[in-house]
Amino acid sequence: MSTIFSRIVDGEIPARVVYEDETTVAFLDANPMSPGHTLVIPKSEFERLNDVPDDVASDLYASIHRLVPVVEDAVDADASTVAFNNGEAAGQEVPHVHCHIIPRFDGDGGGPIHMVAG
Ligand code: IMP
Repeated sequence: MSTIFSRIVDGEIPARVVYEDETTVAFLDANPMSPGHTLVIPKSEFERLNDVPDDVASDLYASIHRLVPVVEDAVDADASTVAFNNGEAAGQEVPHVHCHIIPRFDGDGGGPIHMVAG
């Protein structure tokens, strides 16, 4: 069965898509930890980071690299937490690799781990 993120890629369920190219897509998190919280995913379904082939990993990183400053600028953030929850024990709920870009603000009170601990 497809993950919820594959269903977003296939257009079966709506998402607020902020970026898309041949291999990756980015959309706003449905339960944002801060304004502008964005998820970047490979369009193909891979459960964990080490399942992702090199060429897709490279495209995924390029999208993350491109999007971090765009997301920060969009919400006037001071910084961002950029993280993967890789595996269930780490808090990964959706078994489809995704990178969280979580805008951070001076004095927002979130620690480096607590902001991503789901
Ligand atoms: P994880 O805990 O690292 O797997 O994060 C999964 C993230 O996906 C959570 O931050 C959820 O809020 C988010 N999420 C789950 N379903 C949807 C959806 O349909 N659209 C957008 N974000 C979603």
